[in-house]
Amino acid sequence: MWEQRWHPLREEWVVVAAHRNDRPWLGEQAATTTTRPPAYVEDCYFCPGNRRVSGARNPQYRSVFVFDNDHPCVGPDAPQSLPTPPGMYRNSPATGIARVVCYSPLHNMTLAELDASEITALLTTWREQYIDLAARPEVRHVLMFENKGEVVGVSNPHPHGQIYATNFVFKTIETESIASRRYVEEHGRVLFQDIIRSEVADGRRILFENASALVFLPYFARYAYECYVAPKDTHASLATMSDAELTDFAAALKELLVRYDNLWQMSLPYVLTLHQAPTDGGDYRGFHFHIECHPPLRKPHLLKYLAGPEVGGGNFLSDTLPEAKAEELRSLSAVHYRAGTHA
Ligand SMILES: [Zn+2]
Ligand SMILES: [Zn+2]
Repeated sequence: MWEQRWHPLREEWVVVAAHRNDRPWLGEQAATTTTRPPAYVEDCYFCPGNRRVSGARNPQYRSVFVFDNDHPCVGPDAPQSLPTPPGMYRNSPATGIARVVCYSPLHNMTLAELDASEITALLTTWREQYIDLAARPEVRHVLMFENKGEVVGVSNPHPHGQIYATNFVFKTIETESIASRRYVEEHGRVLFQDIIRSEVADGRRILFENASALVFLPYFARYAYECYVAPKDTHASLATMSDAELTDFAAALKELLVRYDNLWQMSLPYVLTLHQAPTDGGDYRGFHFHIECHPPLRKPHLLKYLAGPEVGGGNFLSDTLPEAKAEELRSLSAVHYRAGTHA
């Protein structure tokens, strides 16, 4: 397979060159940890009861725990008045609120291994956080994400995600918002609904579906195992989703994450991002909330390197065929390989 595929949300081409994945590799292999940490670690900033760098002590929490990030990338203390840069350049304050969301009091737990009900509790917390932060006039966008694994730069395995509520809209969301709005204007339909319709009509890349949620590896995937989880009905964010929809969504997300880990019997690294509409007061009726998961590996110890085409040229070159990767994931067990081994 050797073709370009249109990515309708990013409005760019993805080059699929699936004959390249088997080319010989002589370089370094990505290190992946296989030893399992204990359930509690004394010097972990996220474990219950421990003291953080800020001096604050974590409560003895039992499910999801949210706190303001002690090392914020964006924070309320960012300078408001900035010197004007020379020449034609411009700048703007980078303010916001950064929070950490611990998924579980257990240090050695992972999102994939939580019960569906615990994942529902996390989604409920994310929904509350989105509503709370969106209500602040200075917040234009709420980015929620989880970086998992050492290969994406995470040093602490305690299961957690992050929230950046910022005075700017992140680029990918801005691009998706513009594409979604234009699509409604031009076609009278929601872009993401047409993506779902196309995926269902084809069927080869659907991994799981229940009454109100869907998991698929999109036709236009840029990474080998990139998958989307989405509600079937259009919601611009978690804010308008019902409890029943959150329950279905949690079950769908778990189906995906368990398969990820079962793929190579290892806790698969990924970047998981919630794509929700900006909170700047714009019209986002055409925006359809979804989670995108981007595992950086294309083989057990082989990273997808971003190089000439991606970094230099700005378009992705995919070494794998989405239909084949979807089939690989679909054929795996929905029971986690480590199920029942927790202390
Ligand atoms: Zn911990
Ligand atoms: Zn998206």
